[in-house]
Amino acid sequence: MNLDFSPEDEAFRLEARAFLAEAYPTELRARQERGETLGREDFLSWHHALAKKGWVAPSWPVEFGGTGWTPTQKYIWKDELARIDAVRIMPFGVTMLAPVLFMFGTEAQKQRFLPPIYRGEEWWCQGYSEPGAGSDLANLRTRAERIKGEDGAEYYLVNGQKTWTTYAQYADWGFFLVRTDPDAKPQAGISFLLIDMKTPGVTVRPIVTLDGGREVNDVFLDNVKVPIENRVFEENQGWTVAKALLTHERTDIAGVANSKRALEKLKAIAAAEPSDAGGPLLGDAQFRRKIAELEIDLTALEYTELRMLAEESRGKGPGAESSILKIKGSEIQQRLTELALEAVGANGAADRSEGAHNQPVGPDYARDRAALYFNTRKTTIYGGSNEIQRNIIAKAVLGL
Ligand SMILES: Cc1cc2nc3c(=O)[nH]c(=O)nc-3n(C[C@H](O)[C@H](O)[C@H](O)COP(=O)(O)OP(=O)(O)OC[C@H]3O[C@@H](n4cnc5c(N)ncnc54)[C@H](O)[C@@H]3O)c2cc1C
Repeated sequence: MNLDFSPEDEAFRLEARAFLAEAYPTELRARQERGETLGREDFLSWHHALAKKGWVAPSWPVEFGGTGWTPTQKYIWKDELARIDAVRIMPFGVTMLAPVLFMFGTEAQKQRFLPPIYRGEEWWCQGYSEPGAGSDLANLRTRAERIKGEDGAEYYLVNGQKTWTTYAQYADWGFFLVRTDPDAKPQAGISFLLIDMKTPGVTVRPIVTLDGGREVNDVFLDNVKVPIENRVFEENQGWTVAKALLTHERTDIAGVANSKRALEKLKAIAAAEPSDAGGPLLGDAQFRRKIAELEIDLTALEYTELRMLAEESRGKGPGAESSILKIKGSEIQQRLTELALEAVGANGAADRSEGAHNQPVGPDYARDRAALYFNTRKTTIYGGSNEIQRNIIAKAVLGL
């Protein structure tokens, strides 16, 4: 889609592009190109480069390190990041916890936690979901009791289990929802705690996903002692904090810039891959139709997101409409990986035999396409499943 940007915005795009060309870590780029599995230090190397430039947290208040960019500039920035296949900045600290600390944190909590989040010195994870509490989050059972220690000081004693905790294996800290009043109505007895993952009693166990990845974990909390001052906002008022955080979790959930980039790659694959009838797959009428349908849906999604951006510039925050972005954006992400796998067929399987290090079994562009297909099944589940988003639209947008 061709959009008209102002000369100032075009100048910003050039500035962003020049910075990315110079500052994106070379070692990280090389590892991405070799198709290697990325770990904590890889993600942090990019975080550190952005923090140094002052661009790691564009949406933060300017006095805390935000950039003060307009919604259009943020849109351009996302576009430029996708253009170079930049790894994402982990959202847990920068885009999820930080906004709630600005809103609900004490001065001491802001001083203690925000600078290391900005500089990428402490990795955070999100401890909301439990085996019996996902969509129905208020059903959570992890218990925190106030106990008096030998020195007379009070602390919380936390017991329970969290699950699907993304990258808990790298986390220094986690923000957790716990039940502090078991007798209150489900949403009324919850508190929001910041827990040091090195505290005795915290155990992280990996859950291996369909693609063989190690992204998510079970987290067990056995008699974990948490200082009272690590509670954010009032006791039993954690649901208010949790809800505010979820609205931030859902921003950028449409993933338009990355999907545009994935569509470009899909077209390149279809141009290189032979079809059964001879000639490139891109010349096959059936396959072309599927790509065209996808491109039309993606363009419609981009326009919808731009309309919402325009509203945001006029001071209207994202409402329940962001559920539409979540549903369409996640479905498009899945279709992109489905078509890429359809194009490369069996070559999309990585060779995981000993010593092969994820080597592609066919052309380089086919590498890990099957893994990506399986991994992307998650997008319609996390961040509030698509069925739950439809319920939100039914109630809040359509008034049903
Ligand atoms: C890759 C990945 C990473 C994640 N990372 C984190 C993380 O870091 N931290 C964290 O706390 N959580 C995380 N989650 C958990 C995620 O938030 C939950 O999986 C999600 O909320 C769904 O909950 P559930 O898995 O318990 O499914 P359930 O709630 O049991 O749902 C099962 C099915 O029933 C449907 N359903 C449930 N209720 C309704 C309803 N009322 N109406 C219609 N349909 C319904 C759902 O849509 C779904 O299809 C992650 C999940 C995934 C897949």
